Amino acid sequence: MGSIVSDLDLKALSDLEKSILRLVKRPIHLTITDNIHSMIHISPSNRGYRVRLHHMFLEADTEVLRSLARFINGRNRKAPPLLRDFVASNHNKIRKTPAKARRTILRHNGHHFNLKEIFDQVNQEYFANKIDCHITWGARRLVRRQNSIKLASYSDRTKIIRINPVLDRSYVPKYVVSGIIYHEMLHHHLGVESRNGRKMAHTKRFRQFEKLFRHYRRLHVWKEKNLHRLLGR
Ligand SMILES: [Zn+2]
Repeated sequence: MGSIVSDLDLKALSDLEKSILRLVKRPIHLTITDNIHSMIHISPSNRGYRVRLHHMFLEADTEVLRSLARFINGRNRKAPPLLRDFVASNHNKIRKTPAKARRTILRHNGHHFNLKEIFDQVNQEYFANKIDCHITWGARRLVRRQNSIKLASYSDRTKIIRINPVLDRSYVPKYVVSGIIYHEMLHHHLGVESRNGRKMAHTKRFRQFEKLFRHYRRLHVWKEKNLHRLLGR
């Protein structure tokens, strides 16, 4: 599982956070998403706001950000026209499959598991089928003895979940693969948060969601016991 393989532009994210903070003049908890249904979502939190924005806002100019700040502070009930125009003119950025993902050949079929099948099951059970990212087995590495291993990763640039092929073994229970896929889907679902210019993937909120997985405990117990086998030791 490890950490998110994130290609989000950290500087753009931190700049956006700073700009909004300066304009809103209240504490802001910013999350950048790839949500296809909601471009802006604001909820009160402590003395400030929890703000979830589509990544199109990483490229918004000052005018748009000013308008956004007024909207956040609640002076406008409805999104102001400038903001609506901005979203409309960036419509092409919503749910577009990135070029890299289009070029990548996705391998779903393993010897023991079909990743797409498990992805679809998890998507239905936990996400009401709303997750639209991709999944593939990662490349097989020849390195034998390792001290640590990344079992999966998610890239928010290509929207691809990669599962390490060491998991494609008969002794690996299906709930382990499901749980690892669920974790990566959460990265897609929750987006990347910025706190004081630092990118956060495994936030408190993330950990709360993570525990909703049906076999959460079992998965961790299994990993504790079997990691050495996966590492080839
Ligand atoms: Zn993670």
